[in-house]
Amino acid sequence: MKTYQGSCHCGAVKFSIDCKPINKGLRCTCSICRRKGTLMSSEALDKDQIRITANPEDIGLYQFDSKKAHHYFCKHCGIYTHHETARYPGKYRVNLGCIDEVDTFALDFDVFDGRNWMPD
Ligand SMILES: [Zn+2]
Repeated sequence: MKTYQGSCHCGAVKFSIDCKPINKGLRCTCSICRRKGTLMSSEALDKDQIRITANPEDIGLYQFDSKKAHHYFCKHCGIYTHHETARYPGKYRVNLGCIDEVDTFALDFDVFDGRNWMPD
């Protein structure tokens, strides 16, 4: 296990995660991920693997369709930091671009065909 620190662009929303060393990312073809273009953590993290440090008022929540997924972002700079997944409710992924230590342009990634995946 390794601990990584991440933050949104303006620094209002910070997080730290405990996970396996990050050597791969995940991209997704669904309607929101396609627009964000984000490289996400491939590991779906349990709640106790992620700690968010922020004033709750600074964190925005966006939901759509089934409203199973919780997409969080900084209300000041607009950056998506983390989300609770629709595929694995109770599990989280983070925006790897928020982690300085991770070079998202040097990482391999898997693609999840979220566009053709429907939650139950
Ligand atoms: Zn921010």
